[in-house]
Amino acid sequence: MGEKKAGKRLFGTNGVRGVVGEDMHPGLVLGIGAALGSMRRGRIAVGRDTRTSGPALVAALKAGIMATGCDVMDLGVLPTPALQYIVRGRFVGGAMVTASHNPPEYNGVKVIDTDGTEMGDDEVVLLEDRLFARRFEYAPWDRVGTQVFVPDLVREYISGVAGRFSPDTGGGLTVVVDPGSGSGCLTTPDILSRIGCRLHTLNAVPDGGFPNRAPEPSEEGLRPLAEMVKATGAAMGIAHDGDADRTVFIDEKGRFLEENREFALVARSLCEEKKGTVVAPVSTSRIVEEVAGGLGCTVEYTAVGSIYVARKMMELIAAGRPVVMGGEGNGGLVYPDHQFCRDGAMTAAKMVAIVAGSGKPLSVLAGSLPRYYMIKEKIRTENARALVTGLVRHYAGEKPDLTDGVRLNRDEAWVLVRPSGTEPLVRITVEARREREAAELLGEIREIISTLPGSR
Ligand code: MG
Repeated sequence: MGEKKAGKRLFGTNGVRGVVGEDMHPGLVLGIGAALGSMRRGRIAVGRDTRTSGPALVAALKAGIMATGCDVMDLGVLPTPALQYIVRGRFVGGAMVTASHNPPEYNGVKVIDTDGTEMGDDEVVLLEDRLFARRFEYAPWDRVGTQVFVPDLVREYISGVAGRFSPDTGGGLTVVVDPGSGSGCLTTPDILSRIGCRLHTLNAVPDGGFPNRAPEPSEEGLRPLAEMVKATGAAMGIAHDGDADRTVFIDEKGRFLEENREFALVARSLCEEKKGTVVAPVSTSRIVEEVAGGLGCTVEYTAVGSIYVARKMMELIAAGRPVVMGGEGNGGLVYPDHQFCRDGAMTAAKMVAIVAGSGKPLSVLAGSLPRYYMIKEKIRTENARALVTGLVRHYAGEKPDLTDGVRLNRDEAWVLVRPSGTEPLVRITVEARREREAAELLGEIREIISTLPGSR
């Protein structure tokens, strides 16, 4: 898996991203459209988030696709999971113009397969080959594709998510929704009111300038949401990133719920209902494993990236193994009975169902989870791979997990060191029951790294 990741030149774990006017421009996106269209025959769905550069980039994407003879259905502004939901089984592919949680000056493209999942590494490498070689299958004049604009199709997604819950699920619970001026504005408030919530909204008008907070739903950026939760006496605050595939929560006391704890809360609820496997990347807190294990479920680990989680879930299900859910410790959770991608509105609705169903405040539910202490750090290096190889050799006796980078699992602590996909650095994640143990393990790893060639 790591090898294929390395085989990709342009696409990262979540598509192509760049700063608009610098490395992200219509010329590049036109090529992505033409490459995608050259690999497909039929109708391709296209959508975008609320970014100011979206219309220009979507126009280029559509031009590239249509020039190859594929037809385009333009779904307008919608969340990435909504596009994925609509693509599944109905289109030969999809493309979403979004830079997810990145700042407003960024934009990018996520390419979606016919099954609604993000395009896998093998196909992405083929797409990149075409793009770099400019090997496009342009259609003659009488077979150039057409386009239709269908912004109403997003309603199918709204009904699809809301329809999974009974209309009184929320039981009149008051919630504050902050889609951060992103594409979740068009879906989540509607979905939550359909399942019986009373709503207040914040930053719920689409605006590509993201005037009030960054698209990343950080604890810092969500202070106004936390204040509004307290001021209105709401049961929780619900916030999305720019394309609403991720959701984070503020409890009724105005406190940010760390995303691994969010994952564990949802996993605890789902593992009570169903036994099977929870799929998560190796960077996930052990809290999920402890919660799932306590309920007779297991955790299977993948490389870092939601696509690896989604594909592992599909692989297990194809092999006849029950899968409870998948997720990442960043508020991106995947529900196999719904679709195989992160879905922010589903996560919002699930949390409403969990809190309303338990009759307990979110802070009490979260407070009953086991506690772990996590430290994240980056070390700059020009030779991240050599550094990881050195660590693998040094710790060979501990039989490290090599799913993505190198992970050492000890009784009370673990550490993951992996090269960044986009920058010259390694990312270190350490977790232990107590702060002191986490700091000690981080110190040990830092010291070993300093002795390795490539550390400077
Ligand atoms: Mg996102």
